[in-house]
Amino acid sequence: MTHIVVLGSTNMDLVTYVEKAPQRGETVTGREFRTIPGGKGANQAIAAARAGATVSMIGAVGNDAYGTRLRSTLEDSGVDTDLLRTVEGPSGTAHIVVDDEGGNSIVVISGANGTVDHLVLGDDGLIASADALLLQLEIPLAAVLAGARAARAHGVRTILTPAPAQPLPLELFAATDLLVPNEHEAATLTGRTDPRSAAVALLDEVPEVVVTLGAAGSLYAARGADPLTVPAPQVTAVDSTGAGDTFVGALAVALAEGRPMRSALAWAGAAAALSVQRPGASASMPCRPEIEAQFT
Ligand code: ATP
Repeated sequence: MTHIVVLGSTNMDLVTYVEKAPQRGETVTGREFRTIPGGKGANQAIAAARAGATVSMIGAVGNDAYGTRLRSTLEDSGVDTDLLRTVEGPSGTAHIVVDDEGGNSIVVISGANGTVDHLVLGDDGLIASADALLLQLEIPLAAVLAGARAARAHGVRTILTPAPAQPLPLELFAATDLLVPNEHEAATLTGRTDPRSAAVALLDEVPEVVVTLGAAGSLYAARGADPLTVPAPQVTAVDSTGAGDTFVGALAVALAEGRPMRSALAWAGAAAALSVQRPGASASMPCRPEIEAQFT
């Protein structure tokens, strides 16, 4: 079995559903409140585990009830949490208000995610044993960089989701094998709104880029080759939350299993298309047999 390591965030999403979000100074009565385990790191770990890999999660949760639930959610999906530290203080939270038009506003409090540092990596043994290391930007940049460098030192493929969108230090680009931004992140990194042109520009920094294009699929660019677009299956989307993380988790598994890039992108697209047809982020992520059935 392939082994994927994820170094990243765990968040409890505190989601309030309301007809119309309150303006400053206003109080409104909402419709419903839910706590939904999330965080880009945890979501990618669950996606990769459901797609069929052995997955280890490196990160931190707080010593609160959310931390207990975040850990057990990962474990219930079969993710190894030996290097998921429990630290003093609150877990990461995302405070999300969703209105009836599907618009949302979000406040993220990094909590335990802000404590993740190079020490959490332990010795390099776990990363060295991986087929790929998945990284995002919801933990301190120094930890992301330390993880990427450790992977590089052991010849392990690094796959970076540059979210939340922000300019990146050159050292991180230099330690990245495959960058997977969505269109917005690609534009933030390059100043180019056309995804193809942004992907080509990013090849100055990293050897391979996949830009996710929502319902339009994904675009792959590599040095010395023409960019390749892989369409997404046409489905009726009910909730695209976590589609990007489902895509990356499944893509990492497919590549680690040796699929050629075009096939890996189609396989990841099949997984993500399944996830958008169901509500929730990690709750909507498909298992391997479902992906196989959608793929063929
Ligand atoms: P999110 O933030 O919602 O997790 P994202 O913005 O990071 O997503 P997207 O580019 O929107 O990423 O979607 C990731 C992948 O999910 C796409 O490349 C595509 O394969 C799949 N996908 C997203 N939306 C749809 C859709 N409506 N129909 C089919 N596939 C979709």
